[in-house]
Amino acid sequence: MSLKELIRRRALEEAGFDFAGFASAQDFKEYVKPWAKTIVALGLEAWDEVFDVAIFRAKRDRFDVYYIYEEVMAEKALKLCIYLRDMGFRAEHEPYGLPLKRVAVKAGAGCYGKNSMIINPLYGSRLRLTCVVTDADVEPDPPFEGDLCGECDACVRACPLHAIKEPYRIDARRCVNSLAPPPRDVDTDVLEMAPKLLKRPTENSMILCSICQKVCPYNKRAKNF
Ligand code: SF4
Ligand code: SF4
Repeated sequence: MSLKELIRRRALEEAGFDFAGFASAQDFKEYVKPWAKTIVALGLEAWDEVFDVAIFRAKRDRFDVYYIYEEVMAEKALKLCIYLRDMGFRAEHEPYGLPLKRVAVKAGAGCYGKNSMIINPLYGSRLRLTCVVTDADVEPDPPFEGDLCGECDACVRACPLHAIKEPYRIDARRCVNSLAPPPRDVDTDVLEMAPKLLKRPTENSMILCSICQKVCPYNKRAKNF
């Protein structure tokens, strides 16, 4: 088995990711350290909306915010890093420094959907993304080609706030998820709709609006739905 398939198998079967693909670090060299050769793009299916819960704590002038899926994925990415280091490679989990959606397309995970999420043919937009950067030199996977949305515009029509003003681009002032801590400025009617669209399991937690994901036909096909 090639090194690439060995790493992929570890990522899927032992770390527990649902997607693992490979992109060249050369294509993102302004974001990675000079030793990096390969970016392993990793995806985990958020099969329950509780994956997207944000737990927050207001500090004097800021918020500490924890997203459950980020915590789960960090633990899985660390497993893959340890595997690569045991083989003699450098490996670091890189959850924030890379443009994750662009890397995901390059690594074959899917394409941009009109709701601005990455749409994977199997998991729809419920593939949460992260990356491991390594100096292991493996052949990149082919980038994802094509447009899975086609003529569909279900997400554009379903958004109660008309936040998808044009396909593939969300207007942050109109999207209720902009109110997740730390909150950004939104239009007045967005504030009024927030109690209906943002679930609040506890005083310090929030499940984001996902109407534009729930209507996506690719999410209906995903397993466990
Ligand atoms: S998350 Fe909700 S408010 Fe934001 S674009 Fe999607 S449907 Fe609209
Ligand atoms: S609902 Fe339709 S248009 Fe929107 S992301 Fe899904 S496939 Fe694309």
